[in-house]
Amino acid sequence: MTTNLYYTINELADTGLVNAGISLRCGGVSKAPYVSLNLASHVGDNPDAVSQNQRIFSTETGIKALKYCHQIHSDSVQNADSIATSFWNIKEQNVPEKTGDALISAQQGDALSIFTADCVPIFILDVATPAIGIAHAGWRGTLARIAVKTLAQMKNSFGTHAENCLIHLGPSIQECCYTVSPDLIYKFVQHFGSTVHNEQNLSLQTASFRQLVDIGVTSESVSISPFCTACHTDKFYSHRAEGGKTGRMLSFIQLT
Ligand SMILES: [Zn+2]
Repeated sequence: MTTNLYYTINELADTGLVNAGISLRCGGVSKAPYVSLNLASHVGDNPDAVSQNQRIFSTETGIKALKYCHQIHSDSVQNADSIATSFWNIKEQNVPEKTGDALISAQQGDALSIFTADCVPIFILDVATPAIGIAHAGWRGTLARIAVKTLAQMKNSFGTHAENCLIHLGPSIQECCYTVSPDLIYKFVQHFGSTVHNEQNLSLQTASFRQLVDIGVTSESVSISPFCTACHTDKFYSHRAEGGKTGRMLSFIQLT
């Protein structure tokens, strides 16, 4: 199902095992530059507007409780069992105790969540176990191979095998708009090969794709969103395209 508030990651949801999606920036009450469905309370938006947006989103998705971390652009992966559940509309609980940039779970009902506005949301479904993971991958996390580390944690905790996983790289800034320094291009080429860039423009999606295929995920099991956040600021928040002051989308995955 796609509404004006979010869209479903069909590549994963079609298995019938998960509810997975990402919020859009439509249908909320936040004013510029957070127009309109900003779900993050840490970006300077009016707290009352954020609460109202969270209520709207929660009603639409049926997601009443989330598991998420305080994101720090790390490669740290948390098992959702160790994370307290955060309920919408309780502002004090919007700053989670645990830091980290990926979560994993094999429990039904845990809605694993991350916030992004250009960074790549990586959705992982181990269809055999079943188990799930979600990761927040900007350039730091991508270079640190957070997708691979999330799968490694899923293997340790749940016995996940890479070849049983479906993976989706969600809406995020793409090569068309992501101009970076020559130093950073060099580092990525060293790690992931020359297909990760076009001159000074970097593809975080290709870098994650390469690292996943290298550990045994089949290339047909990895899907990549057609949406560049910086090209589509009508639908998505883009930190870069909007000068750093904007809202955040929420990506979520939940075993049903
Ligand atoms: Zn673009």
